[in-house]
Amino acid sequence: MAGEPQADCLFCKIVAGDVPATVVRETDTTVAFRDINPQAPTHILVIPKVHHPDAASLAAAEPQIAADVLKEAAEVAAQEQATSYRIVFNTGSGAGQTVFHAHAHVLGGRGLQWPPG
Ligand code: C5P
Repeated sequence: MAGEPQADCLFCKIVAGDVPATVVRETDTTVAFRDINPQAPTHILVIPKVHHPDAASLAAAEPQIAADVLKEAAEVAAQEQATSYRIVFNTGSGAGQTVFHAHAHVLGGRGLQWPPG
């Protein structure tokens, strides 16, 4: 069923505490943890605790939780003292998505180029 934990999902395992992660914030609906392969001094992933394969699916099914993810992305940036930052939702393998559980990348702590590659 949509939103239920998936046995083969890495981020569901992080939510369950079965895979370790460096958690920096947690709410009733979200977890934020440091990316294991950081692309900037601040690189944190904010994920919903519920499982949806990407941000669009999350927003369609559970819009309040999608809003929670965005709010937490801003909270994480503030906690990291990143005044300028980028929130990225890679969607689809062609855009670089490798983990099919919705997540926001929060990147900051250095200058960020536009357009991204
Ligand atoms: O957008 P994409 O799906 O590629 O992002 C997945 C991210 O999850 C990657 O940046 C990867 O480094 C990160 N990751 C992680 N901890 C893991 C596995 C992947 O932070 N255990």
